[in-house]
Amino acid sequence: MKLFLHACCADCLLKILASLEDEKTEVTAYFYNPNIHPRAEYQSRLAAIKKVAEEKGVRLVVPDWQPKDYFGVIGSGGKRCEGCWKLRLEKAAVYAKERGFEYFSTTLLSSQYQNRKIIEKIGAEAAKRCGLIFFVPKKIITELKTKGFYKQFFCGCVYSLKERFEEKYVDKEKIKKDK
Ligand code: SF4
Repeated sequence: MKLFLHACCADCLLKILASLEDEKTEVTAYFYNPNIHPRAEYQSRLAAIKKVAEEKGVRLVVPDWQPKDYFGVIGSGGKRCEGCWKLRLEKAAVYAKERGFEYFSTTLLSSQYQNRKIIEKIGAEAAKRCGLIFFVPKKIITELKTKGFYKQFFCGCVYSLKERFEEKYVDKEKIKKDK
């Protein structure tokens, strides 16, 4: 099976490749993530996925980084992440269709920090619209020890970066108070 795989980061790509070990798949990875901010962070994640893709012999497609794609579609509050997943999966489905793929999927399925159920629903809807099949591996590996490349400490967008810093700050304040 030739699988077109939206890839969010190097770590999740490795987890999905490991999940596909028993399937006969030829993977083309698609690093479309306009949510990632700032540019330096995008470049670090891109360098990491290039390294991993080369080591694993996976073809990697990298469209231009266009943050306006992300800021143009995200909703507010709880809808922010749904908009972000939808944007990336719909773009991947359209690209897959144009290039003659039958199956597509996403590495987001392997992340413990994302909502797999909603991602599967969005993926299946995007696939249906394009006449594709959204492929979900039978067993998805969500934990894997990996090293040798840059690893991010926040989800990707500027909001998640802010939230991460706030968590750290709040944690430090809490530690101070508890002493
Ligand atoms: S937190 Fe992650 S999934 Fe949600 S909008 Fe930001 S980058 Fe996208």
